[in-house]
Amino acid sequence: MLALSAEGILPKIDYAIFADTGWEPKSVYDHLDRLEREIAKPAGIPVLRVSSGNIRSDALNPDHRFASMPLYILNTDGRPGMTRRQCTGEYKVKPIKKKIRQLLGYPYPARVPKGVFVEQWIGISTDEFHRAKDADVKYMQNRHPLIDMGWSRSDCVRYLTSLNLAKTPKSSCLGCPFHGNAQWRHIRDNSPAEWEDVVEFDAAIRKGNARANASGSRLLGEAFLHRSRVPLGQAPIDHVTASEWAALQQELADEDELERGVADGCSPWACRGDADALAQGGFGLAT
Ligand code: SF4
Repeated sequence: MLALSAEGILPKIDYAIFADTGWEPKSVYDHLDRLEREIAKPAGIPVLRVSSGNIRSDALNPDHRFASMPLYILNTDGRPGMTRRQCTGEYKVKPIKKKIRQLLGYPYPARVPKGVFVEQWIGISTDEFHRAKDADVKYMQNRHPLIDMGWSRSDCVRYLTSLNLAKTPKSSCLGCPFHGNAQWRHIRDNSPAEWEDVVEFDAAIRKGNARANASGSRLLGEAFLHRSRVPLGQAPIDHVTASEWAALQQELADEDELERGVADGCSPWACRGDADALAQGGFGLAT
């Protein structure tokens, strides 16, 4: 959408916003720098990088309140579970809303007057139109230009390829538990330092985040980044195991999800489930 706007195919946008969790792969930061340098700047579009902190260090800091990641849990009785996802709301939705309020001139906790709002474009394509939703606050009105143009994912890829941006990496935290096996393998096989980093993080959160442990409310079971609930360094990311098949029956997931990750991933405005609805309204920025 940034390129479409910069090229004048879509109207000129005032700003582009990137919500930085502090733990994206290097390829994503490099790509963002390139977009800014080659597309946004020449078109006079400021790219605003907003952040609520570093999700990785916050999880391991006993003094920091932590909005939980969707970790896979193995309860003491052997039953599988998951922690509630709060991180998208805290690290993506919250800083974007904060910035929008600032841009409008009504920083939190000021009331945004009726009729004052931004038009917010969200890059959802026609093959995922079910993710397109209205904003949950009156000071943002959501638009979905790709859907309006009738563009599918492959139309977007074709357009990016024409701009020499075919290798656009997918944005998400390096250690996001929503990764499928393909994403884990990609990190392991292409970026040894980042693989070491996620394996180390996986081991560090085995008993939950540091704040919970410090406050004495530690997890009763064990937490894992990989769906198999096996330490990431040994997790079966090259094939699906029998116990994963069994767990799939309980979790309503499918083989494709194991390989390619959770379909809806971690877009700030296209999340699924109640946890995300709660997160969007739960940080004091909803009114
Ligand atoms: S990418 Fe994953 S870990 Fe990061 S904020 Fe989104 S859901 Fe949470």
